[in-house]
Amino acid sequence: MTVATPSSLYADLQVDAIPDAQLAPLTWYGIGGKADVLISPRDVASLSMLMRRCHRDQIPVRVLGSGANLLVCDSGVDGVVIRLNAPAFKSVEYNQYGRVEALRAWGGAATEQLITELARRGLAGLEQMAGIPSSIGGALRMNAGGKFGSIGDAVHSVNVLQHDGSERIYLRESLSFDYRHTNIPEGIILWGVFELKESTTLEVRARLKEYFNYKRATQPMADSSSGCMFKNPLLHDGTRVSAGKLIDMAGLKGLRVGSAWVSPVHGNFISVEKTGARASDVAALVEEITTRVFDAHGITLEREVVFWGTDIE
Ligand SMILES: Cc1cc2nc3c(=O)[nH]c(=O)nc-3n(C[C@H](O)[C@H](O)[C@H](O)COP(=O)(O)OP(=O)(O)OC[C@H]3O[C@@H](n4cnc5c(N)ncnc54)[C@H](O)[C@@H]3O)c2cc1C
Repeated sequence: MTVATPSSLYADLQVDAIPDAQLAPLTWYGIGGKADVLISPRDVASLSMLMRRCHRDQIPVRVLGSGANLLVCDSGVDGVVIRLNAPAFKSVEYNQYGRVEALRAWGGAATEQLITELARRGLAGLEQMAGIPSSIGGALRMNAGGKFGSIGDAVHSVNVLQHDGSERIYLRESLSFDYRHTNIPEGIILWGVFELKESTTLEVRARLKEYFNYKRATQPMADSSSGCMFKNPLLHDGTRVSAGKLIDMAGLKGLRVGSAWVSPVHGNFISVEKTGARASDVAALVEEITTRVFDAHGITLEREVVFWGTDIE
């Protein structure tokens, strides 16, 4: 660690703080080192003050969602890691603006639980998120999605807490959502308002089942991974080619570096041992795949998974 994170940053705030916190159990990979301090604010005012102080003192701030698209390096990360897991940041408010089709989901809310509840209420529009482990904040940041659409399809507006502690609301018209990318500015996504459609529980559940079954049939959902490691690259003619296919065609399925290997089920998934795995093995395997895919196809793969820490960033 190079940056000291004094407790005076947060001691007087409404937060739960864990110094030297293990991040591995909070990620889907289950690997990586510690954060200087892991902070769960209990309200927006405390989070806002914390952001302001970190900004003032130039303390690095990272925000952790459900850790499903994240690789934390073995030596951990400097500064503050924020986790929106207090009730205030996990709530979902239905009937926004007096309309049954509009809801506000806070950044720490679990997408899986939300879509289950939406099915119960017969509200359609987020079924494309079936089988995508995420918090609402993480899903918005990544514009998570797949074959059936992405979360951005249903966005009405988002509220971002900026580094100086102020909030700014962005309406749909000023936002763009592209393949695994959005122009939502840097900062902490506090909430999103989603525009849904009235449907029936039966219909929504049927779609959820179809989409989930598709994912289960094509991806190694039970492995320790972060989903797809690379984005599907854009070709000169404007089409995207499957990164998994490129990896497969380069003969890399099953390729292993130490505790990490390319899934034999899906070439774009890097799986790791359930115990004793190292982030450095994943990072080395990513390098190896990138080099070999370039040698085989002349295409440079771009990572989708976010890497935290100086050893691997
Ligand atoms: C088995 C498996 C299957 C997957 N399948 C898919 C898939 O089909 N499609 C797909 O798109 N993804 C998939 N993923 C990847 C992952 O589910 C998504 O990227 C998801 O959006 C990550 O959300 P998260 O809350 O876990 O974010 P994290 O992994 O915790 O964080 C990801 C990024 O979002 C940022 N972030 C998190 N919360 C906030 C916030 N409140 N404000 C601002 N930034 C924030 C983090 O700082 C980080 O940069 C899969 C992952 C796994 C493990």
